[in-house]
Amino acid sequence: MSGPLLEVNDLKKHFPVGGGFFSGPAGFVYAVDGVSFEVAKGETLALVGESGCGKSTVGRAILRLFDITAGQVVLDGQRIDDLSADKLRPLRQRVQVVFQDPFSSLNPRMRVRDILAEPIRNFGLASSAADLEERVAKLMDTVRLPREAVNRWPHEFSGGQRQRIGIARALAAEPDLIVCDEAVSALDVSVKAQIVNLLQDLQKELGLALLFISHDLAIVEHMTHRVAVMYLGKIVELGPKRSIFAAPKHPYTEALLSAVPVPEPGAGRQRIILRGDVPSPVNPPKGCRFHTRCPYAFDRCRIEEPPLRPLESGHSAACHLHDLPQAENPLARNRLAAKSAGAAPVSPPFLL
Ligand code: SF4
Repeated sequence: MSGPLLEVNDLKKHFPVGGGFFSGPAGFVYAVDGVSFEVAKGETLALVGESGCGKSTVGRAILRLFDITAGQVVLDGQRIDDLSADKLRPLRQRVQVVFQDPFSSLNPRMRVRDILAEPIRNFGLASSAADLEERVAKLMDTVRLPREAVNRWPHEFSGGQRQRIGIARALAAEPDLIVCDEAVSALDVSVKAQIVNLLQDLQKELGLALLFISHDLAIVEHMTHRVAVMYLGKIVELGPKRSIFAAPKHPYTEALLSAVPVPEPGAGRQRIILRGDVPSPVNPPKGCRFHTRCPYAFDRCRIEEPPLRPLESGHSAACHLHDLPQAENPLARNRLAAKSAGAAPVSPPFLL
């Protein structure tokens, strides 16, 4: 049986802050503090959470844009977090990225042909100049852009078209996994939906695995298989999309979902407003990191950190509420109340 394409095991990335040249750092930003997950071949995993939760740092660690503090990143059975630049090079081809900002992520001094040809040349994928030209033309077909547009410059395209070029550039390397780091966040709502649909189609057509990093749960619902929710450097809930959207098992996920717009007028869901701001990752709260904002926090939460543990098939959460009898668990009570009030299932309106 083949294993997962990507395994991230207890990943930590702590950035030093302050201090002097001789005195060492004054402290650390605990940006990612023990994150583990897997992505199967051809699977989409959405990594979601508020800005500053560490999700982009996870993506950058997988891309080896910096060295990690601890843990392991394993690609197709091979550890890549400790590889030298030479040994990493062939593996870089297998993991590509689409960045958030389509305006700054393309070199303004290169025509689209050269932008797409660069990774093909770098990884030695074309057998001749004609093959290179044909590959570039096919990439334009794949992202639904006209072939003749290869002669144009990035500034001649709209934001959505530039993001299509960014996707084509990622595909040029023939990767197994693409990290989409807030890849649609900077786009207008209608363009956002088109790019999400394109990624979804490509994922099916090419059998790609996607790690889709987003602050917006509404966007990921239609395109992901599983969801990992991050809060202050940790995964607090991980599970199949359907099960997370239908029955969240962490109060933070419940609050995020309550903010997702409901398409049917009148089919309201009670909005949960979280108190205060996300605490600083320099000095995360003791016990459960979410206790300073959790509407259900109790004494144990301030002392003991809940581990991420399996609760039902493939669905894990880090919350002490699941040790309480069902009748005393507010998450279960809210679910029952929502069911009897006939609350609509969560669906982003722009994708219907
Ligand atoms: Fe809230 Fe406590 Fe659960 Fe943390 S462990 S999410 S504070 S109820």
